[in-house]
Amino acid sequence: MPRPLELTPLFASLRSFKGVGPRLNSLLSRFFAAEESGSPIALDLLMHMPERAIDRRQQSTVSNAQPGNISTLKLHIDTHFPAPRGKRNIPHRVLAHDESGEITLVFFGNNGGWVEKSMPEGEQRFVSGEVAEFAGKKQIVHPDYVVPLDKFDTMPLVEPVYPLTHGLSSKVLRRLIANVVKTIPPIDEWIQPERMNANNWPSFAKAMENMHAPTSPQDTDILGPARLRLAYDEYFAGQLTLQLIRSQMVVERGIPRKFTNILTRKLDAVLPFQLTKSQQNAILEIKQDMETPNRMSRLLQGDVGSGKTIVALAAMVAMAESGAQSALMAPTELLANQHFDTLLPLCKAVGLSITLITGKMKAAEKQQALEKIKTGEIQIIVGTHALFQASVTFADLGLTIVDEQHRFGVHQRLALSNKGQKSDLLVMTATPIPRTLILTHFGDMAISVLSEKPAGRQPIDTAMVPASTYGRVISRLKKRVEEGAQAYWVCPLVEESEIINLVSATDRHAALKKEFGDKVSLIHGRMKPGEKQNIMRDFKDGKISILVATTVIEVGVDVPNATIMIVEHAERFGLSQLHQLRGRVGRGEKNSACLLIYQEPLGETAAARLNTLTQTEDGFEIAEQDLILRGSGDLLGTRQSGMPGYRLAIPDVHKHLLEWAHQDASQIMAENPTLAGVEGDALKNLLYVFRRDLAIPLFRAG
Ligand code: ADP
Ligand code: MG
Repeated sequence: MPRPLELTPLFASLRSFKGVGPRLNSLLSRFFAAEESGSPIALDLLMHMPERAIDRRQQSTVSNAQPGNISTLKLHIDTHFPAPRGKRNIPHRVLAHDESGEITLVFFGNNGGWVEKSMPEGEQRFVSGEVAEFAGKKQIVHPDYVVPLDKFDTMPLVEPVYPLTHGLSSKVLRRLIANVVKTIPPIDEWIQPERMNANNWPSFAKAMENMHAPTSPQDTDILGPARLRLAYDEYFAGQLTLQLIRSQMVVERGIPRKFTNILTRKLDAVLPFQLTKSQQNAILEIKQDMETPNRMSRLLQGDVGSGKTIVALAAMVAMAESGAQSALMAPTELLANQHFDTLLPLCKAVGLSITLITGKMKAAEKQQALEKIKTGEIQIIVGTHALFQASVTFADLGLTIVDEQHRFGVHQRLALSNKGQKSDLLVMTATPIPRTLILTHFGDMAISVLSEKPAGRQPIDTAMVPASTYGRVISRLKKRVEEGAQAYWVCPLVEESEIINLVSATDRHAALKKEFGDKVSLIHGRMKPGEKQNIMRDFKDGKISILVATTVIEVGVDVPNATIMIVEHAERFGLSQLHQLRGRVGRGEKNSACLLIYQEPLGETAAARLNTLTQTEDGFEIAEQDLILRGSGDLLGTRQSGMPGYRLAIPDVHKHLLEWAHQDASQIMAENPTLAGVEGDALKNLLYVFRRDLAIPLFRAG
């Protein structure tokens, strides 16, 4: 179903706008990299909300202008005091006055004399900027605007301020967005009229205009009608999508499965441990889902180390008993390999055939495996998410399991259910998800929780140490390594640049090699999957004692003998991320330790954050803290995954809108489940605008 033509301007590439050359475009691309589309489009910008708006409408006088405030002054330009030749660190100063007093305008780096040109002595200018006080005198350092009296109107009187990053200035963004706003087409209203009227909300286009080209600072208020409307839109699109998936699950009926329990009993017999109560419960819930005629859509939530893999295996074994295949998908090849290694001996013991499909497989080998999948000879297939893009044909796929769901968004889930199979879906996540986020991201799913850790786990001794004690860390580590311990050494995280991450990991690797020789190895995201696999195997086999890593080990790696986790620049990581990393140790019965090395000075909040980790190993508690401190995007890893995050709605502020959106979406699904007619078309537009259009094919007629 093609996108309606009238929406086209919203999807225009930013390159097509005036003033966007290759340089700006590449900045924009980097800034909006989270979106999947590749090249940023008008919508990307529109969805980027200003934090606030500066009000320049109030003209002030020098004597009334308050330091720290933005003021717009009408000044007589008196005298220029250029910086002495060759002294670049001394600013160019301009003395000016109005009837109430004197003020100095300060400019650093007056290249080419533009300051003199833009404000000749003896003339008058409007000058707008933040007033400061220096040695008892008022000044403005680098005014935002200096305009001749007849050009007052060219100054944006109410100026939205954007959170700026990666070298994109608010000014550049503002100019571009102002142009983009003008291209928003009129779109039929998708919000129910009662909702609109009761709240006095503006149209989508008008709301965007209010946010990006405000005529008063109140226009951009996060509780103002424009922002509320847009936040509601975003939730509405999300809720509609989730409910669609759910109804789809029911409409496209699954197959009621029957289990012989023969293989399950065999599995129980070969497992080297007793399943925990929560594992048993989760398996029971999953099997009950599979027995019903509806398709299963279940989220298995379990902290790191809670033993999700075995639950997955039990589900796949049960599915095999009923005669159908299962696919287990991991976010990386490394993890797919690891799952395969874990599952292979158990499957052998039970008498099931399992295969791993990876990108590095030889063509002939792959062909053979694909053939066996097609005939049904192989019952369990392990791979990365690419499994679903690839041309894998299953004989009878009964169960799809997705590991580490938080890297895997609603979009991908949709792509899965779009495959049209009647297969049951189980997604597993190690991120404990607070209740508010469940509704926004997993509202369509039933949930099982692994609330306890396998017995015999030792608490992980967690400590914070300053980087200046590096020498002591090394000597202690030496002692432990001599005793046979194994350690992970995680290098600082630099969000902006994988290259810098790599450099720091390589440097650390070199430094540790001096101390530990061949016992140290390096693993990072740029390596080929095969290379990584070999290194992980050496580590698992104990050939390597210390594994220096970028955060590739963050998710899922399981080496029970590793007991030490060292994280450098711990203050740069999110709490949940650190918790995940720490979860890599403490998997066996030996005492484990986690060292959080921080760079001094450590701010008060940063210290409090890290302290949380030394106090608790409860992933839920840590996640709640993280949510408060960093926001939901980071918690769910949306940054990395390109999962449609929430950019207009703010969970704490707009909670009531989520409830409304949930109700309204339910009502629509009840009354017009195929999104028919004019109302339906408008709702489809909503899904397009909020990039949920993968859901649209779900609305089949009748
Ligand atoms: P995660 O939930 O983090 O994916 P895993 O499935 O990797 O956890 O399990 C972590 C470790 O705990 C593995 O080594 C696994 O064999 C072991 N394990 C799982 N369940 C139990 C149990 N009931 N008793 C003891 N060890 C278990
Ligand atoms: Mg796991």
